[in-house]
Amino acid sequence: MEFAGVYARYHTWMDIPEHTLPVTLLEGNTPLIPMPKLAESLGGGFSLWVKFEGMNPTGSFKDRGMTIAIGEAAGRGAKVVICASTGNTAASAAAYAARAGLRCVVLIPKGKVAAGKLAGAVAHGADVIQIEGSFDDALSVVVEISNRHPIALVNSLNPYRLEGQKTAAFEICEILGSAPDWLCLPVGNAGNITSYWMGFRQYHAAHSCGLPHILGVQAQGSAPLVLGHPVEQPETVATAIRIGKPARGEEALSAASESGGQIMAASDDEILAMQRLLAASGVWVEPASAAGLAGLKKQLDQGRMDVRGQRVVAVCTGHGMKDPDIIAKSMQPPALLPLDYKAIEKTILKGLQ
Ligand SMILES: *Cc1c(COP(=O)(O)O)cnc(C)c1O
Repeated sequence: MEFAGVYARYHTWMDIPEHTLPVTLLEGNTPLIPMPKLAESLGGGFSLWVKFEGMNPTGSFKDRGMTIAIGEAAGRGAKVVICASTGNTAASAAAYAARAGLRCVVLIPKGKVAAGKLAGAVAHGADVIQIEGSFDDALSVVVEISNRHPIALVNSLNPYRLEGQKTAAFEICEILGSAPDWLCLPVGNAGNITSYWMGFRQYHAAHSCGLPHILGVQAQGSAPLVLGHPVEQPETVATAIRIGKPARGEEALSAASESGGQIMAASDDEILAMQRLLAASGVWVEPASAAGLAGLKKQLDQGRMDVRGQRVVAVCTGHGMKDPDIIAKSMQPPALLPLDYKAIEKTILKGLQ
């Protein structure tokens, strides 16, 4: 069967209104990439895959939920959608709104959004507003605006976002033939961990495919679910999870405890080290996307998890290409040589020594 996006493939599995329209960019059906070399470097003895959600149309998993949230808004006659965003939600909402012919307004925290994400939102014609505040502040404002005006909220407080996002769990079970033993992923506003847990439970109820333990990973400077209280000024290089008051925090904690997993924190250094390890295996993700695996590595290194003989899937939520700054900052500028064969040859051979 030809794949025509998550609505076409899975809408009968979704709790969504009849009026929902298919508004698709053929999101979903992302690769589940075996990572044997990375598993070896984490101690070996288990199987590891990356669910590479950076391969969605706008470069993050947000597209899975946005196709449904925008399709629902368009179907009930909304003309404008709004969201707060650390970047990827904005890029995704802008693209799907453009597809559906809706206006899109996005609020972003000033100076904290990766250039490629902002550019995406602008390219698709969204009205982008920076505010002097955090993501959490932006979210409170857009919630209030959507309550007072006929403007549809497409943050993951919108339940249809989760209905779309849960399809990633279905895809993993279909490819592996059953649920993995562990699923690890980054946690920001906590919509995605909530979606995966919904998806795995639903698929298990229908197909007895088992349930994974869920390891949700926050950034250390932005870890309200680990600390047990909101963080007023979240800080982390992983801007997509720089969120101090997760909208679905309670559900995230339930997903972790019901699944026999946990929510933990990884430091920026650990996250960036994992971003480099993934890149060394050919998978370039943005910093937030490396958090799940950074958390796994930390647990394994400290002997707090035993995955020998097990199957582990790490969700890499967004592509590295939209957030190149962090790599560019740490790299030597490329050597600049005159067009002189001998000089170029000498430099190449020296580099290979
Ligand atoms: C949105 C996002 C997250 C966090 O997902 P939540 O549903 O907010 O927990 C993680 N990584 C990337 C790349 C994202 O865009």
